[in-house]
Amino acid sequence: MRAMVFEQVGRPLRGVRRPIPRAGPGQLLLRVHACGVCRTDLHLLDGEVEIPSPPRILGHQIVGTVVSDERDSAPRDPGGGRRVGVPWLGWTDGECDYCNSGRENLCPNARFTGRDLDGGYAEYAVADERYCFPIPDGYTSEQAAPLLCAGLIGYRALRMCGDAHRVGFYGFGDAAHILAQICRWQGRETYAFTRPGDDAAQDFARELGAVWAGSSEEPPPRPLYAAIVFAPVGALVPLALRAVAPGGTVVCGGIHMSDIPAFPYEILWEERVVRSVANLTRRDAEELLALAPRAGVQTRISTYPLERAGDALADLRAGRFTGAAVLVP
Ligand SMILES: [Zn+2]
Ligand SMILES: [Zn+2]
Repeated sequence: MRAMVFEQVGRPLRGVRRPIPRAGPGQLLLRVHACGVCRTDLHLLDGEVEIPSPPRILGHQIVGTVVSDERDSAPRDPGGGRRVGVPWLGWTDGECDYCNSGRENLCPNARFTGRDLDGGYAEYAVADERYCFPIPDGYTSEQAAPLLCAGLIGYRALRMCGDAHRVGFYGFGDAAHILAQICRWQGRETYAFTRPGDDAAQDFARELGAVWAGSSEEPPPRPLYAAIVFAPVGALVPLALRAVAPGGTVVCGGIHMSDIPAFPYEILWEERVVRSVANLTRRDAEELLALAPRAGVQTRISTYPLERAGDALADLRAGRFTGAAVLVP
């Protein structure tokens, strides 16, 4: 099969041919139809998040059909196979205090798809069946792929905003464009903060129901009750704190962020909260994949052939598309 492989920090992904992997006990072999590109993949490429044992096939928003459940059978025609999605959380030990308290996202022994386990930048992938989720029928595989990380982890971040009626998004990319639609359906107001001058992202946000869109340096027209910082820019955290009302929460939604500058206690005072969101649980996946079709979430995608994974990542870094990038093997 063809695959795009990470070899070391600072090197572009390399296109290789590899044998089709075999599903071990409890695993499914999937023919990959689509795999979303995530900002986390840039952090992996740049070494900001470490890949412990390269080479590694990246990609943790996989949509594929099951071609084999059994160890020794050869891949069959995928036409009739069930379609599932594979997210970032690929395995947990199931026995630590975190796993036993509904917080498997924090399991110290967790293995992550496209970091510790080979991912979906390939024609085939294997995944632990317990971490595969049925894809709602109304979505094409390409449209469903961004739900599996941007959607899931975004949803977890939104849950940490409680019932905040006015929610701000700092960075309006793959995750925010999904959450804006969920918020609209839930009757919340959303406020979109983008890089100064990014008119395309601001227009896109308004199109998806944002009541206000502007530059991250501007204050919102009224105080927010919660904000989610998706851009990996620590300097946005004090800006978001200044934008939230007393009692408001600022959720940092990424796996990596540049340093947060010192800020006066006054902007945290009055019970404002800063917190991060890490990974996802299977419950998050079940909830979001049930919610997305009910809320009428549609994803905006730019598709790339597998071999152009490097271009997709470069376009993501440069902000050259709105919505999400998806590789199609
Ligand atoms: Zn991701
Ligand atoms: Zn655990």
